[in-house]
Amino acid sequence: MNIPFVDLKAQYKTIKEEVDKAIHNVLDNTAFILGENVERFEKNFAQFCKAKHCIGLNSGTAALHLALLANNIKAGDEVIVPANSFFATAEVVSLTGAKPVFADVHETTYNINAEDARKRITGKTKAIIPVHLYGQPADMDPIIELAEEKDIVVIEDAAQAHDSEYKKKRIPVTTGCFSFYPGKNLGAYGEAGAIVTNDDKVAEKIKLLRAHGESPKHHHHIPGYNYRMEGIQGAVLDVKLKYLKSWTDKRRKNAYLYNELLENADVVTPFELKDARHVYHLYVIRVKNREKVMNFLNKNGIATGMHYPIPIHMQPAYKAMNMKGKLPVTEKVVNEIISLPMFPELTEDQIDYVAQKVKEAVK
Ligand SMILES: *Cc1c(COP(=O)(O)O)cnc(C)c1O
Repeated sequence: MNIPFVDLKAQYKTIKEEVDKAIHNVLDNTAFILGENVERFEKNFAQFCKAKHCIGLNSGTAALHLALLANNIKAGDEVIVPANSFFATAEVVSLTGAKPVFADVHETTYNINAEDARKRITGKTKAIIPVHLYGQPADMDPIIELAEEKDIVVIEDAAQAHDSEYKKKRIPVTTGCFSFYPGKNLGAYGEAGAIVTNDDKVAEKIKLLRAHGESPKHHHHIPGYNYRMEGIQGAVLDVKLKYLKSWTDKRRKNAYLYNELLENADVVTPFELKDARHVYHLYVIRVKNREKVMNFLNKNGIATGMHYPIPIHMQPAYKAMNMKGKLPVTEKVVNEIISLPMFPELTEDQIDYVAQKVKEAVK
């Protein structure tokens, strides 16, 4: 068997007619940037998240960048981020001139540990960015409690967590940044992202910042960016949004089948926080001999990934901060993680085969 890591073609086939029609409609109207398709998606995605505002942008990275700027994060400030994430989570802090301060994660969920974050807060700390890694919400109650106590802003990196819930509350609980990179749970057919928030002031500021600080036409209030969402992406995302809940349910079902089949194998399967709707953007296991297991799986036609093998504080870009050795949980788990194939269209036979090969590999 040959099992891909994700199968975007399999999903496209199930919605081809609708998506093709939506794209052709954009072409017929030449509504290429923002416009009614983006507005319709913004309205529907805000509703989906049970939030007041959704502002469509051209990437998840742009969303994180603007969420920081809209909260006045600037040079001289510090922002707490987990070291165990995709590079963009910290990169955007540097883009504002502020300093990313790396915190460690829980060994169970791989998400930021609020107690560890607390130790890293200084007089300069202005914000904290919990990441809902792999689709599981970070434990938000202690983070929000800490943020209120220290009077700092919470910005959620929800790039992997569309349709996720924390204690029956939709993600984002505060202000959240989404990526619609094609491989994400809700993926565009190109680059796209969005900010979802209940904060009217933040929403207004982000609308200005995404389009050259302009409102109305010809009046530029602040220097901004060109971070606008494309019409084609808004149209595609609005079609796909209707199916997201059922795709999430399939991902969760696939994850539970993996869990069951791997129950007695020498691997750590994903831990689920109580009352969390983990949306399994990724299904990540931990093994002792990662290299050997990955090679065995790849040789047997199974595509795998690592999210992420080099933590952000150990990337060349942040080496000068000398943080190596100071985030023990992160530094341990990154050597053991393997992401197995995970997408809604995965079949039971495929999951069976992958689990069987994992068991053979770790024996
Ligand atoms: C994908 C991702 C991003 C960046 O999103 P883009 O749309 O690729 O810019 C940021 N943070 C996390 C955790 C991600 O997975």
